[in-house]
Amino acid sequence: MASQACYVRRVSARVLRGSCLCGEIVFEVDPPLARWVYCYCSRCRKATGTGRAANLYVAPQQLRWLAGADRVSRFDLPTARSFATAVCRRCGCPVPHPTRSGRELVVPAGSLDGHAAELPAVEHCEWESRAPWVER
Ligand SMILES: [Zn+2]
Ligand SMILES: [Zn+2]
Repeated sequence: MASQACYVRRVSARVLRGSCLCGEIVFEVDPPLARWVYCYCSRCRKATGTGRAANLYVAPQQLRWLAGADRVSRFDLPTARSFATAVCRRCGCPVPHPTRSGRELVVPAGSLDGHAAELPAVEHCEWESRAPWVER
């Protein structure tokens, strides 16, 4: 029994690796993943070019840049309390960035190269403001 519990802990503690589309930015994220959020708001639609953003949230110290940290371009939306995006300067791929308060780190799920062994339950945010063509 005890050894099985150890095994579960080890699997869920797997470090996640991520990268941008062109490959110049590479990073690692340490578990655990605090939140797993789909957001359907108009800002997330603009930022992603699709119907919803799929983001993981971790503490800022859980991220390590392995390459290309200087390639990250951040945009803070002036009219928003905290909305920001970060992309690779070369390929435009969304990459991790701290929230404006610095308390959390937003990790675009699509920038990860592997899959988390365990994901927190997904939160659907701003479902009421989704585009009419979006399906859950
Ligand atoms: Zn890139
Ligand atoms: Zn949103």
